[in-house]
Amino acid sequence: MKTFCGRANPTTGSMEWLEEGEDYDYHQEIARSRYADMLHDKDRNVKYYQGIRAAVSRVKERGEKAIVLDIGTGTGLLSMMAASAGADFCYAIEVFKPMANAAVKIVEKNGFSDKVKVINKHSTEVTVGPDGDMQCQANILVTELFDTELIGEGALPTYEHAHKYLVKEGCEAVPHRATVYVQLVESRRMWSWKKLFPVRVEAEDGEKILVPPSEIENCPGVPSVCDIQLNQMPSSDFSTLSDVVTMFSVDFSKPVQSASTYYRVQLEPVKSGKAQIVLSWWDIDMEPSGMINCTMAPYWVKPTSALQWRDHWMQCVYFLPREEPVLQGEKLYLTACRDEYSVWYNLQKAREGENKADVGVESPVCRCRAHLLWNRPRFGQLNDQNRTRQYIKSLRKVLKADSVCLCISDGSLLPVLAHYLGAKQVQYFVLFFRSLHFSLFFKANNLEDKIKIIEARPELLKPSHLEDKKISVLVGEPFFMTSLLPWHNLYFWYARTAVSTHLASNVTVLPQSASLHMMIVEFQDLWRIRSPCGTCEGFDVQTMDDMIKDSLNFRESKEAEPHPLWEYPCKSLSDPLEVLTFDFTKTVPQHCLSTEGSVKLLRKGKSHGAVLWMEYHLADDITISTGLMQLSNGKGNCEWNPHCKQAVYFFSSVIESEILSDPTAVTYAINFDTKTGEIAMDFKL
Ligand code: SAH
Repeated sequence: MKTFCGRANPTTGSMEWLEEGEDYDYHQEIARSRYADMLHDKDRNVKYYQGIRAAVSRVKERGEKAIVLDIGTGTGLLSMMAASAGADFCYAIEVFKPMANAAVKIVEKNGFSDKVKVINKHSTEVTVGPDGDMQCQANILVTELFDTELIGEGALPTYEHAHKYLVKEGCEAVPHRATVYVQLVESRRMWSWKKLFPVRVEAEDGEKILVPPSEIENCPGVPSVCDIQLNQMPSSDFSTLSDVVTMFSVDFSKPVQSASTYYRVQLEPVKSGKAQIVLSWWDIDMEPSGMINCTMAPYWVKPTSALQWRDHWMQCVYFLPREEPVLQGEKLYLTACRDEYSVWYNLQKAREGENKADVGVESPVCRCRAHLLWNRPRFGQLNDQNRTRQYIKSLRKVLKADSVCLCISDGSLLPVLAHYLGAKQVQYFVLFFRSLHFSLFFKANNLEDKIKIIEARPELLKPSHLEDKKISVLVGEPFFMTSLLPWHNLYFWYARTAVSTHLASNVTVLPQSASLHMMIVEFQDLWRIRSPCGTCEGFDVQTMDDMIKDSLNFRESKEAEPHPLWEYPCKSLSDPLEVLTFDFTKTVPQHCLSTEGSVKLLRKGKSHGAVLWMEYHLADDITISTGLMQLSNGKGNCEWNPHCKQAVYFFSSVIESEILSDPTAVTYAINFDTKTGEIAMDFKL
């Protein structure tokens, strides 16, 4: 079935109708899925195989037939492992139809069709009995239904159901058990992802402090998990206040309860400080003795040599409802509350904690709306004082006593900064649309009558909105919530074009221009997510590779994808190159902007892809980069803007550059279609 879905184009802002259907959704799901990453996770695969072999042996030793239930079979990998280990029969359940189809092919190609039955159903729909999907209940339960938060993909209700209906009492489970660990930390960096810190503004009449509204201060935030590559967080960015503590574990071989509950541990800080964050990760024991353990523990807990890179399981950052000063050695209770799909934390001093009644804490729900308007990286960005300083410096250059300002950016603090910097007569308007009401902030700073919020799309702006004034200063960060790829924020340019008739002839636009930059890189690990697997633990999974390739080529061909590169180390192989510029002092041109050329590979390494990012030129000598912050020229180590995602274009084939005397060159062609706002690119190695 085909349907047409309307959406606002993130760059141009215009409404467009896209043909969307089942095909589109499933190609998206496969292309961006973590299947390839799981199949590359050697540590996981090897340990699952060991665990499965051990479980089959235990069942056989008891003289029973080994009947396996594999819930969420994906490629069929774990069922094929079980069949190879001597299982008599495997029921491989997969709810996602394209995957179930792939599993059938893969199982057949590997010669296991007589031992593995793929069932395209959700496990809770599976029937047991002579006419059912399964002839009888299984005595081995194999699953891999975990996400970074362990339970976020619905493992608990699935296990609960399986134990009731699909497996025998006393069954073997692989994994046998999962354990969740936590550590209490203080971290200004991570805390800045949830809180808005006061902003200092050096104004002509003294220092002004911009205060966050109390609603934001006291808001518990949002319940969605914050999962990151904690191994990329330098130890200087946080301070551990407690030892690593076991929070709770789940035995998968016994009936599992999914109903909401809580777990509580007592802990004593090893150091005094401000408790702000709970870092958390889990491990799984593949068999009861705990000898085969697969852990997500970060580098400071585990020797670096044993670290397996993976992107499908990372670590979690939980924000405590409020910052709590703690003393070394004092008694604290840490409570983990969970529902069927998510976990949240609360910290109490021992005395308060003894009162059991207040143990159950509600799941965090944002009341201030700021956590809905700004995601976590955006909070981090707004708290970045260096960045704020650049804007203040630039605003100071352009603001005059009689300026009439218009700000176009989602949930921006620029108008407030501008107000404190400018003379009292300055008028500010904020063009505000597509997002939630932002008056909270102005209210907290008594600016309601100073800054006028206009709720209109740029093309619908009328002179009356501006009290018949012409705009002398147009500002934007630019930042828009709808931006996924770096150049989507060029929407500022389109909005600027739409409001042209309201601009004074000598208008100042800040930023005055933007530029697109590019660099060829070798990834330390990220290349794995787009690299074919071929075989996995001896099983041919090429069908899966082909399927991912097809999906990547479906409409998405020649497209870059967003990744926060501070989490994914890479080495530059070329110099950074400015490839396109966008002049905000003029309107968006009718014609396309294109460029081509070649870029030399200066360092030895594998060219996995090109990274692209935007830089905004606020004033003649003030530029903000949303990508590369620093490049150490010797080794090519890159430091990326920690608050932004960069665009990564993976090359379809990787070249290895060896020599430096005659550098290899990569040729590129990049085209910005001003009508669609899309950037198409092509590289030849
Ligand atoms: N077992 C494979 C794939 C794991 S990914 C491997 O280890 O490589 C998890 C898969 O489980 C996904 O394909 C998802 O669609 C499927 N899934 C999740 N919950 C399910 C359920 N309750 N019933 C059936 N399939 C499920």
